[in-house]
Amino acid sequence: MKILVINAGSSSIKYQLLDMENEKVLAKGLVERIGEPEYSSLTHKANGKSSTIYRPLQDHAQGLEFVLSTLVDNELGVIKSLDEIGAVGHRVLHGAEKYNKAVLIDDDVMNDLKDNIVLGPLHMPANILGIEACKKVMLGKKNVAVFDTAFHATMPDYAYMYAVPYSWYENYGVRKYGFHGTSHEYIANELAKVLGKDIKDLKIISCHIGNGASICAVKNGQCVDTSMGFTPLEGLVMGTRSGDIDPAVIEFVMDKTKMNINETVTALNKKSGLLGLSEHYSDHRDIMKYSNEGDKKSMLARKKFVYVIKKYIGSYIAAMNGVDAIAFSAGIGENSSEMREEVLQDMNFMGIDFDIEANKNFVRGENFKISKDTSKVAVYIIPTNEELSIARQTKNVIENH
Ligand code: AMP
Repeated sequence: MKILVINAGSSSIKYQLLDMENEKVLAKGLVERIGEPEYSSLTHKANGKSSTIYRPLQDHAQGLEFVLSTLVDNELGVIKSLDEIGAVGHRVLHGAEKYNKAVLIDDDVMNDLKDNIVLGPLHMPANILGIEACKKVMLGKKNVAVFDTAFHATMPDYAYMYAVPYSWYENYGVRKYGFHGTSHEYIANELAKVLGKDIKDLKIISCHIGNGASICAVKNGQCVDTSMGFTPLEGLVMGTRSGDIDPAVIEFVMDKTKMNINETVTALNKKSGLLGLSEHYSDHRDIMKYSNEGDKKSMLARKKFVYVIKKYIGSYIAAMNGVDAIAFSAGIGENSSEMREEVLQDMNFMGIDFDIEANKNFVRGENFKISKDTSKVAVYIIPTNEELSIARQTKNVIENH
């Protein structure tokens, strides 16, 4: 079976076509600047070749038609007919409490997704546009929603509840949902596979450290806690997001700066984190470069970034009464030896004995062990693969329907 994976943003469509017989990627690409017809384009990678084609695209349906015609194109295509596509898997931000696993999309699911817009106002409308485009352009094709929140549905109530008036939860659904679930699920399963153990026998900490970053505690195959919360703003220091702060800061700063609530929350999402502390750089590579050159604010951003990751790892070890293995993943987690070294140093009292040389000489793009053989806790770099995870879950839904 071939599965098309779609990740729709407000003006973009990221796609991958996978052959599930061997889980190989046949083609992948990105449609950009939908709704800006003068500039819209498609970048398509297949058969070792990358091509960028400009074409006016008014909406997501036109963008998707462009993708589909490219997939069957004589020159750039990888399939003869769209009939070869067994189903479409959609990355969907929010499943709220109702969806704890991937689901075949029907009218009821569509209505639920629309209800969830309030919980994910930046992403859900775009995710819905992507699904509607597929329904319009690929008549009769099965669509599956794979939720970023679903893996976290197993958290116990004392982990997902905030200690605020209970009616906020009952009336408005205020609670921790967690995000990056598809990634954490993939990383935890991959780690169990690499260790040659049943995931049901393991305590795992999965660190997805990219521009957006979250950590997840996985006990016996189930998520028991995660650092992102009601929105992706909670938890770790991120590229431009603050992570955890005292909520009382909001009123105080609004009073001092005369910013309104939207401006203040936007500052926490877009002007904080590495960017806020360094005052210049949201990209981790810049933070490393300028902190190495002695820029004081970049040095502070680098230290704070690492410190919070360390604290979350420590707290999840306490929450699970131990840990067997830790994984680092995503843009920074997979690439930055310095970040991993700074997080893992001085953790030997917890049984984490990491291998400085292996950590420096890791092989990019591969599952790679960075702890010593004698370490009680195994530490690995596990490159995440959210598209493959979405494709696997989509196949599973289709086969079991
Ligand atoms: P992601 O959101 O997973 O795409 O990750 C983006 C982040 O990964 C950015 O902060 C990049 O600076 C960081 N990143 C990407 N490549 C590297 C690298 N080679 N070394 C350090 N950080 C990197």
